[in-house]
Parts: sequence; structure tokens; C-alpha cells
Amino acid sequence: MSTTLNPFKIAQQQISVAAEKLGLDPSIEAMLKEPQRVLIVNFPVKMDDGTTKIFTGYRSQHNDAVGPTKGGIRFHPGVTLDEVKALSMWMTFKCGVVGLPYGGGKGGICCNPKELSPRELETLSRAYFSAISQIVGPDKDIPAPDVYTTPQIMSWMMDEFSKIKQSNQFGVITGKPLIVGGSLGRNEATARGCAFTIKKAAQELEIDLKGAKVAIQGFGNAGSIAARLLDDMGCQIVAVSDSRGGTYNPNGIHPHAVQAHKEQTGSVCGFCQNDMGNDEILELDIDILVPAALENVITEANAANIKARIIAEAANGPTTPEADKILFKNGVMVIPDILANAGGVTVSYFEWVQNLMNYYWSEEEVNLKLEKVMFNAFDKTYDMSRKHHVDMRTAAYMVSIDRVAEAIKTRGWI
Ligand code: NAD
Repeated sequence: MSTTLNPFKIAQQQISVAAEKLGLDPSIEAMLKEPQRVLIVNFPVKMDDGTTKIFTGYRSQHNDAVGPTKGGIRFHPGVTLDEVKALSMWMTFKCGVVGLPYGGGKGGICCNPKELSPRELETLSRAYFSAISQIVGPDKDIPAPDVYTTPQIMSWMMDEFSKIKQSNQFGVITGKPLIVGGSLGRNEATARGCAFTIKKAAQELEIDLKGAKVAIQGFGNAGSIAARLLDDMGCQIVAVSDSRGGTYNPNGIHPHAVQAHKEQTGSVCGFCQNDMGNDEILELDIDILVPAALENVITEANAANIKARIIAEAANGPTTPEADKILFKNGVMVIPDILANAGGVTVSYFEWVQNLMNYYWSEEEVNLKLEKVMFNAFDKTYDMSRKHHVDMRTAAYMVSIDRVAEAIKTRGWI
């Protein structure tokens, strides 16, 4: 995403592009360009030093035509209303492309969680959830973790809501610890979903995954697990990086060994003889590139130098719109973020389903169901891209907007 633009305006532009290709009814387009409901809450928190601070929080519910809204809660000093609104729209597209019975939601509190004590963090989390409790619920809006929010915070929020409702309400939030209704397989779900989409893309492009060369930018939760899963699928991981830089071995890197090195030294750097910059890793002579760190790393300045045939966006927003055009022209298949990293929200959906049934699945069952959802979503997006001669990102937006539009019409809203 371009940093110079307001994220909400970017999301609206993306709707315009897909709407034009789909020949969408202008009233539906207008409806999708705004969230249905936004709540702003200002609430007090008693701090450890005896003072009381007023915090501002938001919850945006973009569209609930296909089902309750769903999306994370972010704790960050930079949270704004427009950011939360845009993120809720993107959640509609992400849920839509994988066919979940959810619309998009997103929440956030403008705060610096690193400056809060554990008691202050718990009080803040409970107060925010209490303040938004009228509009959330297992059949209304189901939040989840996002930037700087954790399974523990989800547990406090679920507990607060359960107290208000005077009954256990595990289904009000996902990303919880296992003991209070979390799902097996949730931790690996984003990377696993990404690996499934890579498998499908490789089939379509007739790339043999056995020995296919892979570089992964960002060796955190998503990137390190993706490295392990792709290695299991026969790929050869040749480069990985983190915030300090990258390390490269054309003969292959063992994901477990580089993980151990990172745990010992704090970074992947120095694991191989060849260290390299985070920019260089993107331009290596490889088959598959997995950006799994930051936004805006593939731009018009470096897109033409990319040699990978598949880019699987584990990260959110790693490719700018200008770079997208260059990559499409050069025949690089970009599996867009809303598809490539939708494994996380899909297993969140499985968590909610298990909570509602009060019946819990094995990890194997979760992974099999995830595979089915991701393969199906990839096929739909790929078919749409072929039919309309558009890139996979535009196709993914078209798949989800088409679905929400049909629900809006069928319900008789427009
Ligand atoms: P994380 O914090 O666990 O890992 C991020 C990694 O990126 C770290 O290894 C960090 O060192 C590295 N990094 C930071 N700056 C970098 C730089 N300049 N160059 C290269 N690497 C750098 O985060 P995560 O959960 O793995 O998330 C990574 C991306 O995936 C984010 O864009 C996130 O929004 C997206 N995502 C994650 C999930 C999930 O379930 N974890 C779900 C959807 C999307």
C-alpha cells in the first residue's frame, strides 16, 4: 500500500476497480465504500500511579450481509478511525475470498501497550470490551488478536463479556488460549494456508516444488513456520531474513537449524557465509518469494528485478499498486495477502465453530479442513483472473465483492 495515501481511501479505490470490472450496481458499490457501523468509545482506566487516564477505542463493522463481522483488535499509538475502517473493509475481502460466512470488522485502542503494566493492560482490555459489548457477540461481531494483542488479552475480553452476559461466552472472540476454547492449529494457520496456496500456484505454473528455490523475508511467526512447511513439501529454502538483514546459501538452509541460530544469537544473520540486505533477498534468482514482514517492500523501484515466478504475500500489503502492474506484465504470479494469509482467519472461524458446538477437533482435522478451504479459494481466484484477464489481487477482490453483493441483493437491501 502506498504510504502517502490514507488507508481508507486506498480501500475505497480498490472497491472501485473491482466494481468496474464486475459491472457492480452503483448503490452496492456506495454501500461497500463505507462501514455499516462504527463505534467510538472513550473510557477511563485507573493507572498504577493513582491517576485515571481516558483512552479512545474504535470498533468498525464493515458489512454483515453474509454473516457476523470478524476481525482483530489492535493496540497501538498510531491507531486512527480511518485505519480501523480500512482494516474492517479488508477483512470483508479476506473473509469473502475464502468464503467464510463473515463480514469484516476491526477494532483498536490508541495506546502504547509497551508502557503499560500487566494490571493496566488487563484493566484497559476489560474496559474497552465492556464499552463495545453492546455491538459484539457470537452472532454479531467476533474480534480476534491483531498488532500487540495476545491470546491472554483475548481471554480477559472473553471473560469480561461472559461476566456481562452471566454465562460463558467463548464464541465472542477467537485467538484464545487452548484451555478457554482456543483451536489446535491456530498458531501455524497463517503459514500453513500460505503454503497451501503456493502448492496450488506451483501446480498451475507447472513448477516442481521438489527443489524449488525459496526466499523468505521476515523470519517471525508466519515466515519461520512457512519455511518449515515449504521445506517439508520439498522446496529448498535458500535465503531468510529478519529486521537485522538476511542470510543466503544457494545450496539450501535448514529451517530448524536457522531457527536455533536465531534463538541463540537473536538473528538469522551470520548463519550462512553470505549475509545480505533485506532488499537483495527480494531480487535473488529463485522460484518462490515469501514476503512475511513489512508493508511496501516490493515497489516500482525493484519490481522489475524480481526473478521469482510466484510471490506469496504472507505479510499484509508488501506490494505497492505500481509494483503490481510491473509484476503482472512480467508474468509473476502474486498470491495476494487477502488470499495468501487468510489461513489465520479461517482457523479463527474453525475456533468459533468449535466454541458454538462445544466440540473440539484434532489438529489433523483442522489442517485438513484448512487445506480444503484454501484450495477452493485459490481455484476461485485463479479462475476469476483467467476469465477477466486480471491479476490475482484484482481477481480476489472481485470474488469477495461479488459474493457480498449477491447477499445484499438476496436480502433485499438494494
Ligand atoms: P512477527 O512479529 O512474528 O514477525 C515479523 C518478522 O519480520 C520478524 O522476524 C522481524 O524480525 C522481521 N522484520 C521486521 N522488520 C523487517 C525488515 N525490515 N526486513 C525483514 N524482516 C523484518 O510477525 P508475524 O505474525 O509473522 O507477521 C508478519 C506479517 O504477516 C505481518 O505483515 C502480519 O500482518 C502478517 N500476518 C500475520 C498473521 C499471523 O497469524 N501471524 C496473519 C495474517 C497476516
